[in-house]
Amino acid sequence: MSVEKFDAVVVGAGIAGLYAIHRLREIGFSVKAFEKGDGVGGTWYWNRYPGARCDVESWDYSYTFSEELAQEWEWTERYPTQPEIERYLNHVADRFDLRRDIEFGTRIDQACFDESENRWLLRTSKDATIAARYLVSAAGALSEKFTPKISGVETFAGEQYHTSSWPAEGVDLANKRVGVIGTGSTGIQAIPQIAKEAEHLYVFQRTAQHVIPAQNHPLDEDQRREIKATFRQRLEEKLANAVGMSGFPEDPPSLLELDAETRREVFEGGWEVGGPVAVNRAFSDTGTNWDANKVLGELVIEKNSEAVNDPGVADKLLTIDHPIGSRRLIVGIDYFETYNRDNVTLVDASTAPIEAITAGGLRAGGDEIELDVLIYATGFDGVSGPLMAMDIQGVGGRLLRDKWATRPTAFLGLVASGFPNLFMITGPGSPSIFSNVIFAIEQHVDWIKDCLTYMTEHGFNHIDANPDVEDDWTQQVDKAAENLIVGSTKSWWTGENIPGKPAGLNFYLGGLHNYRAKCDEVADNGYEGFLLQSR
Ligand code: NAP
Repeated sequence: MSVEKFDAVVVGAGIAGLYAIHRLREIGFSVKAFEKGDGVGGTWYWNRYPGARCDVESWDYSYTFSEELAQEWEWTERYPTQPEIERYLNHVADRFDLRRDIEFGTRIDQACFDESENRWLLRTSKDATIAARYLVSAAGALSEKFTPKISGVETFAGEQYHTSSWPAEGVDLANKRVGVIGTGSTGIQAIPQIAKEAEHLYVFQRTAQHVIPAQNHPLDEDQRREIKATFRQRLEEKLANAVGMSGFPEDPPSLLELDAETRREVFEGGWEVGGPVAVNRAFSDTGTNWDANKVLGELVIEKNSEAVNDPGVADKLLTIDHPIGSRRLIVGIDYFETYNRDNVTLVDASTAPIEAITAGGLRAGGDEIELDVLIYATGFDGVSGPLMAMDIQGVGGRLLRDKWATRPTAFLGLVASGFPNLFMITGPGSPSIFSNVIFAIEQHVDWIKDCLTYMTEHGFNHIDANPDVEDDWTQQVDKAAENLIVGSTKSWWTGENIPGKPAGLNFYLGGLHNYRAKCDEVADNGYEGFLLQSR
């Protein structure tokens, strides 16, 4: 059996994988990335559903490692659509000649650490065996889709799609009765678009949500020039704050300390600006103080309800059972207005639970709803999910999914003890999706590159996390989340959207800037907390 050998294998060719290939090449490594899709983009390759776009502004949702790249790329909208981001990532792949080191249409199914040879042995979905000194997971936080098991699914005579594996050629919804299950960020983006195409749309909503308007707009010539001219200044801003975005409100007022009129003014100002940051970070205390949070939640509900004509429908859409920001705040475009259309029906799946899929549609609350197309906007097994889905065996043949059976842990979210020479980009225990993820990815990849450079220079070829230090980091992760309202509700953030997955908020919430400082400190101290060896 022939075994191809590389210094590093990268899992995935999304934002993280592309950048990892680029950086690892720079240090002279032979690199190969395996990507299950037929093109680059990861999340932005798979999530082609109608209305898919990012809710981080285009000028921040861009790589910063190459100023030339930033100067030559033209974003056309404040919040970029999926096709535009996919084009951008294809441009990056071409501009930095990354494709020649990517094998498309190939998954890594199994990764076993071969202790005697100090390398990873990988088995691909094409049955090839690959050896790699280092394995870098760029598998993404939202790449393992979740589809609820609903009885009768096999009997459905119509078409079924999950939003995160939407056919590239699109789906013809004209003259069809369409059902959408799920009203998370994905459903709320897709529903207004699907409503425009379908004969009739039934939305199955289990949990009502707070939604902030995107206030999206095209970028004119002057705005594009300004974005380019301020590249360095914005980079400085991104480095300095908790979420890695520019224009971050530095010193917002306390909601509770403002009189009602001023409070309303600040809120309305944020609403006009739109997007998650302007409203959620308009006040200093709504993420930590339950009273302040309640007021903000009420203000948002009041605004949202103004858009819905039918009070009964508004009541179902806006009887919200959780504090604002306790689960991912949703950004919408014409979401609530969509329920004023004659061809849209809201089914409250909290009071009329989905019981079964039938040959002709779906049964909820005892009623049969006839459907031609059923769409699952039901989310993902996030962050640890894609890693647990791979058969990863570390020292002594221990499976990563066994190590993580009660909680996914990794020192700095980068290396899980017992799984040497495996680096995780935006892994559990790092800020990950609680920041501008492209910027978090760059920080991780740069750190990994520097670490591997250090190891090479010092004659090391084996890195593991000290288990005690990993435990200590997990405590720091928990401490940083203390007294925050974030995560106080069940959602994919806590893993509770996945049946049987242990509940927990496995993200470092102390801020990307503080996390970066911690990673730098570890590196400056000779990778303190990691066990470096020569084998
Ligand atoms: P999600 O937030 O996990 O939402 C899944 C939806 O499916 C929820 O409404 C959930 O209801 C519902 N659901 C799941 N199982 C169900 C069942 N058996 N019956 C009825 N309803 C069911 O997933 P998502 O919307 O795909 O978003 C995931 C993440 O992707 C987001 O939080 C965000 O980080 C990212 N994303 C970002 C953007 C953007 O940048 N704008 C867009 C899309 C996605 P419950 O709430 O009751 O569980």
